[in-house]
Amino acid sequence: MGLFDKLFDKKECVICGKELGLLGKRKLEDGHMCKQCAEKLSPFITDRRGSTAEEIRQHLAYREDNLARVPNFHPSRSFGFGSSKLHFDGQQNCFILTSGSNWRSGNPDIVAIQQVTSCDIDVSEHRRELYQTDAEGRRESYSPPRYELSYSFHIRLHIDSPYFDEMYFELSGSDRPNSRDCKEYFDLMFEAQTLQATLMPQVYSMPEPPKVDASQALGDLFRAAAAAVGDAARNAPRPSKAPAPTPRPAEEERLSPRPRSGEDRFAPKSSGRPAPRPGEGPKAPKPREL
Ligand SMILES: [Zn+2]
Repeated sequence: MGLFDKLFDKKECVICGKELGLLGKRKLEDGHMCKQCAEKLSPFITDRRGSTAEEIRQHLAYREDNLARVPNFHPSRSFGFGSSKLHFDGQQNCFILTSGSNWRSGNPDIVAIQQVTSCDIDVSEHRRELYQTDAEGRRESYSPPRYELSYSFHIRLHIDSPYFDEMYFELSGSDRPNSRDCKEYFDLMFEAQTLQATLMPQVYSMPEPPKVDASQALGDLFRAAAAAVGDAARNAPRPSKAPAPTPRPAEEERLSPRPRSGEDRFAPKSSGRPAPRPGEGPKAPKPREL
């Protein structure tokens, strides 16, 4: 056998036996598989390269069973405002996570809620600096620097399955909230907590719908009205009022504006959210066994 033969040593897919070309083959622990077989794997597979041919065969058998169950999956509720959606079937208490709108033509992994060992909300703050231009049209930082904030919501699920152990996706869409104290943020947190209670009802209770802060809403209304009226509003005579008494030092604390309740709204509560009971709560993902 010459060098040429060695270079183009024929290899076969350990799953289907098809001859493998130089390109498109996928490495396994003990051989290679073809592209077509690899496409049948779950997108959530934990460690394909470290899997043996026998483990992959079991995985593919599971995928065949899953495919047969897809026509009977009927979502009653969907979560997610971006490209990823978690569809929940309330009759069968199972769900799929998919980024395709036409998921029925695929083979989305159907996961029973009993397999969910943890469901965490991951809120991240993103900061983008805003710039001004100087006299020569050059971009420069404001002093002090100014930032535009946005908040993304991700969900991390740990799954007790021999075939994969984690699912992670963004719940928020491209229109991310720009403050921790706005309706969009509260709505997303409500959605995330509803998802937690849906997937892990033994750990999480359904959240209270976000309340509209009446004083805040009224304040927004007044600010909007004032902006619309513009200068006229500023020049209008102020309503005459009796001068407010000067607060004595002891009263200053009480008279200062109270902190907004928004920051604390989602702090963990001791009531309403029963702590996980032993053996039921989130646990570390189990080592993979096939
Ligand atoms: Zn193959």
